[in-house]
Amino acid sequence: MTSRISGFHKLDQKERLRTLSLSERAAQQLSATGVSFGELAEHMVENAIGTMPIPLGVATNVRVDGEDVLVPMATEESSVVAAVCNSARQCYEADGVTTEATDPLMIAQIQILDLQDPFVAKSGVLAKKREIKALCDELDPILVKLGGGLEDVEARVIDSDRGAMLVVHIVVNVLDAMGANAVNTMAEALAPKLAAWTGGRTLLRILSNLADKRLVKATVCFDPQAIGGDEVRERILDAAEFAWVDPYRAATHNKGIMNGISAVALATGNDTRALESGAHAFAARDGQYRALSRWHAGESGSLVGTLELPMAVGIVGGATKAHPIAQANLEIMKIETADRLARVIAAVGLLQNFGALKALATVGIQKGHMALHARNVAIAAGAEGNEIDLVADYLVSEGKVRQDIAETKLNELRA
Ligand code: NAD
Repeated sequence: MTSRISGFHKLDQKERLRTLSLSERAAQQLSATGVSFGELAEHMVENAIGTMPIPLGVATNVRVDGEDVLVPMATEESSVVAAVCNSARQCYEADGVTTEATDPLMIAQIQILDLQDPFVAKSGVLAKKREIKALCDELDPILVKLGGGLEDVEARVIDSDRGAMLVVHIVVNVLDAMGANAVNTMAEALAPKLAAWTGGRTLLRILSNLADKRLVKATVCFDPQAIGGDEVRERILDAAEFAWVDPYRAATHNKGIMNGISAVALATGNDTRALESGAHAFAARDGQYRALSRWHAGESGSLVGTLELPMAVGIVGGATKAHPIAQANLEIMKIETADRLARVIAAVGLLQNFGALKALATVGIQKGHMALHARNVAIAAGAEGNEIDLVADYLVSEGKVRQDIAETKLNELRA
């Protein structure tokens, strides 16, 4: 086996698959995925050999800012969609989730080195805000025409082991785009000017995924009766506090939130990695990595949760417009602005968080999770058609969701 395949990119998908010397089954699977999306995949990435189908589910019962919304979620993990439906049902009568959002402001950074006096350079750059705005806005007339464009310029002097550097931030209203390409283009074009004005050497010119000027805050209030009473609320509060004070717990707590966020982001063709790096960096903003959500007891014994995080998502640009399924998913949600998409995604993250906290603090996560996971285990053991449910039900009833047991049961059934 060699990874040096000269001219791989010049082959078509069928030829690429032949070059990989796969088993007939694997080759067939991959070429089947290529049939409907082959050409699109070819345009989206290099050396495409097919597509990777991920289940797409729809979360029901969700209500955000007084409006019901059906939420498509693309995820390979069992129980993620079910958990959102279940959590959303428990707050539906209390009007679901409400949100607040900042303007969609993205930051791009320009790093400037070798400065004689970085503080003088900083003042010089800040004095040029008007020129910087003109230069950046000129690069994206569509964005400016629609009401976006450069909003602010910031600069910081940062000490480092390789000397002081000046870091300039351009802050751009990117409207309905995720905005990475938009701000990167501006940062790259601005860099030579900054070098000339400061006498320094510019190096990196790229957006920051810590999009902390593009925040969404989601809030939910559960009636104690709807969630199983006061004891459940108290257990959830103890569980949530654990994630606030302990990074080991916070990492898993936030992973649960991202189960929901990344699934909606993927379903709408958004950049899941950008959201995840932004969320985790934001979770560590006070120096300790903490829970992204906070929970407290509200009036009349209610349970109130809030989730605040950066939300760099778009409905134009990147893959969002090019991918027909992403477009269909926006249609399911009846979403026409990136602002509404950001709010719905944050709401889903908070509902997902509630679902995980409640399960963990009461019956444990495995009960619900394993019932769904049992089907995956049955499939992995070779079960097909109605064998899948028979084997999965058996695994759950035995309380042992294991592949070896699934294989034994399958052999028994077939015998
Ligand atoms: P883009 O450049 O494809 O589209 C944005 C452009 O669309 C704007 O510049 C504007 O000219 C135009 N536009 C039309 N109607 C608009 C509207 N209503 N609102 C806003 N803009 C409108 O895409 P983008 O959003 O700038 O970049 C997103 C892509 O960049 C994603 O695919 C992402 O994966 C990728 N990316 C990410 C990173 C990172 O996160 N670190 C780095 C580089 C690239």
